[in-house]
Amino acid sequence: MPIYEYIAEDPKEGCRICVRGFELRRPVSRPPLEKCPLCRKPVKKVISRVNTPKISKPLSVSDAKSAGFTVLEKRDTGVYEKL
Ligand SMILES: [Zn+2]
Repeated sequence: MPIYEYIAEDPKEGCRICVRGFELRRPVSRPPLEKCPLCRKPVKKVISRVNTPKISKPLSVSDAKSAGFTVLEKRDTGVYEKL
């Protein structure tokens, strides 16, 4: 059963639970929740956590280049001479 996150549509209207957001297990067959079960104010489903970007794999050089990054490649063994 998937867990959905809901949060008050209007943060000034909701109760202490839906203002901060809550999680609810709900069968897929049930329609999405529209009202807070406690205060009956409208709630909306939280689609995704914006602050936690998914990093699936490290960037490869070609990915970085296509994203507009300048990729610097070390050409020799990097000998530094102390002057
Ligand atoms: Zn509420």
